[in-house]
Amino acid sequence: MKFTNKCPKCGSSDVIADAKAIDRTRGGSGSIETELTVATFRKPDAVLFKGQQNTSLSAWVCAACGFVEFYADSPKTLKMATA
Ligand SMILES: [Zn+2]
Repeated sequence: MKFTNKCPKCGSSDVIADAKAIDRTRGGSGSIETELTVATFRKPDAVLFKGQQNTSLSAWVCAACGFVEFYADSPKTLKMATA
């Protein structure tokens, strides 16, 4: 979708590119908005210093059917963690 600019579900080319994925949490003083991220851990079993590496996500949204596809902004960041 990111590269074809075409929805794989309905075939529409009415695609909204690079939308930000926002996660809204209700905090003590109202709502907090954080960017959605994905993470990998170099040492998942460690109690401290798990070696977390994360990247934010961007969404491609089909304006016709609503299908959403997520892409990691820096996928290589995550890959280095498993090396
Ligand atoms: Zn679609």
